[in-house]
Amino acid sequence: LIEANGVSKQFANGTQALKNVSLTVERGEVLCIIGPSGSGKSTLLRTLNALEEISEGDIQVNGHSVHNRKVDLNRLRTQVGMVFQQFNLFPHMTALENVMLAPLKVLKQPEAEVRARAEQLLAKVGLADKAQSHPAQLSGGQQQRVAIARALAMKPSIMLFDEPTSALDPEMVGEVLEVMKALALEGMTMCVVTHEMGFARAVAHRVLFMDHGEIVYQDAPAAFFDAPRNERLKTFLGQIL
Ligand code: ATP
Ligand code: MG
Repeated sequence: LIEANGVSKQFANGTQALKNVSLTVERGEVLCIIGPSGSGKSTLLRTLNALEEISEGDIQVNGHSVHNRKVDLNRLRTQVGMVFQQFNLFPHMTALENVMLAPLKVLKQPEAEVRARAEQLLAKVGLADKAQSHPAQLSGGQQQRVAIARALAMKPSIMLFDEPTSALDPEMVGEVLEVMKALALEGMTMCVVTHEMGFARAVAHRVLFMDHGEIVYQDAPAAFFDAPRNERLKTFLGQIL
């Protein structure tokens, strides 16, 4: 579903954020990405849906080169949903309107259909009763669940999550992780940058460790956490666990 080959990314100021990264994500796979601050995790996710250009290499999503001049970015971003640390909901719109916006404006689907589906999605993330609330009236955990529903409204084939629970108060982390876990169990293909090691261990099929712009190590969660065969990863896990 995702196939990245020899991807490098250098920012204009000279920072080499990705160094020769290659990565395959299969349909239905849940991949968790961990690593120290500045290791290139966000940059990697952002290159996957062309929010960030790449300097070298190639990335294919659903068989189409993403960093091709002729790529249809609207179509790509329909296929690849993204959820950020900051929820970025439109403050002047209700939860329901936030979820309805892209299918209406980008996909130009009929309003009644979009509304019905948005209501379903809010129910799915446990917010059926908050459809008419504005973001300011919702907790952080509720806002992030609306953001997930909004991404799902485009019927993506892949969901990217960049530290979706890092901005939340601790008591709200669980409700967001539960929604993500349910999505994973439904078979959604997911790439999740996270510091939630419990989630990675329980939900991921594969965990990947990045350091200094490189994928240093990847393995199934049990081996990754319990018997990592890499010194840099051992040191990192020793610091955070
Ligand atoms: P964190 O855990 O703190 O979110 P990260 O692993 O997501 O870190 P990135 O945000 O991908 O790291 O950053 C990788 C490197 O690229 C860092 O050295 C960062 O300073 C640099 N970087 C990120 N965005 C830019 C930018 N727009 N211009 C220049 N350098 C950047
Ligand atoms: Mg980041």
